[in-house]
Amino acid sequence: MALTFRGGIHPEENKVTKDSPIRAIAARNFVRIPLSQHIGAPAVPVVKVGDRVLRGAVIAEAAEGLSCPIHSSVSGKVLAIERGTTPRGEGVGIVIENDHMDETDPSLVPWHKPIAQSTPEELIACIKEKGIVGLGGATFPLWAKLNSGRGKAERLIINVAECEPYLTSNHRLVLEKTREVVDGVKILLYILGAEKCIFAVEDNKEDAADALQTVLQGSDHFAVAVLKTKYPQGDERQLIRALLGKEIPKGKLPADVGAVIINAETCWAVYRAFVEGMPCVERVVTVSGDCVRTPANLLVPIGMSFGEVLEACGGLACQPEKLISGGPMMGTAQWTADTPVTRGVGGILAITAEEKKTGNCIHCGRCVRACPMHLMPLEFYRAIQGGNLDDAEYYNITSCSECGSCTFVCPAGIPILQNIRIGKDNLRNRLKK
Ligand code: SF4
Ligand code: SF4
Repeated sequence: MALTFRGGIHPEENKVTKDSPIRAIAARNFVRIPLSQHIGAPAVPVVKVGDRVLRGAVIAEAAEGLSCPIHSSVSGKVLAIERGTTPRGEGVGIVIENDHMDETDPSLVPWHKPIAQSTPEELIACIKEKGIVGLGGATFPLWAKLNSGRGKAERLIINVAECEPYLTSNHRLVLEKTREVVDGVKILLYILGAEKCIFAVEDNKEDAADALQTVLQGSDHFAVAVLKTKYPQGDERQLIRALLGKEIPKGKLPADVGAVIINAETCWAVYRAFVEGMPCVERVVTVSGDCVRTPANLLVPIGMSFGEVLEACGGLACQPEKLISGGPMMGTAQWTADTPVTRGVGGILAITAEEKKTGNCIHCGRCVRACPMHLMPLEFYRAIQGGNLDDAEYYNITSCSECGSCTFVCPAGIPILQNIRIGKDNLRNRLKK
């Protein structure tokens, strides 16, 4: 029987692109590459207006502390360093005029010695140089995750759950690049010194599970676990519940219960960093939604606008009511198609919004039953609406994983998650004072 967790929901999958092979697209005349594409401090520009840059070259170095460097996805000339839109609000970006020569930085070469003769510290330094972050959407710098997991992790879990409706980029990547993903995982296993690796795949992607089984045959270090298709199965806490039967204590990380969880595309980025020398300058994006003429999975250079990517799918068949970065459950609504694709953008959705009633809570309890964190979402809504942060804290709002299941099931159409985010922001601000 497929493994799972308690709670959760079954939204319509809408994975219409699951049979669409990944297609690489070229950048157009300009890219705008934000300095903040990761959790932590924005990178610091090392180029100036007028400089010529090559594809893969560092254009901004990592700041002190938690940060990541940023690289150019094209060869061309720096036109501006200026504020503009990003998938998560405003931020500074580097605008580069593409010369369409596609000239790659010659210093980008494969790793210079066998992995087994390298130290974990050397390998982590390389991962940092290549700007690899959690490509499942969390964008936590991988170098920092590996540093905190070393010595603690007995299990490395590769997240192929991809539980958000519409998104299929991980599914396609694991099907099409199985060996490369596995080779990236082997490097990560070596760095972490973990004993075992589990690929976590939902049971709506059995072909991906089969492809992994074929490549992994005969290795005792690897297992493929098939999980029940349910949202939010890909959430780190739910994965650990389903696979290991463990709870992550409040305020702790998966490493504290002996596990490190890494998304499948991140493993592919690790493979490319060591085998091809390539930093993170492109990523796979599912472009879908009922307004998109030809939904597809595309390999997109970082910095292309959402509008350009939508055009590569034949453009829009109707006016979308929502343009979303990511999936419909946890993604972020965008106000403009000028938003550039960043390392955290796994999906671009253009959809006509479903009609929903907005009304009062009828105390049906559906949000409580759906909550995978065993919280009481209706109490958060009540507390935030009443300006009562103490109540929100009492009901443990900080444990909310922002999966959006409560909002999805609410028959009154109450924007519970939106209120939770406001409440968490207010609490953070109160703590700063
Ligand atoms: S309260 Fe948080 S964790 Fe629970 S269902 Fe709502 S968004 Fe998800
Ligand atoms: S699902 Fe909506 S209506 Fe039902 S208890 Fe929760 S907030 Fe109230």
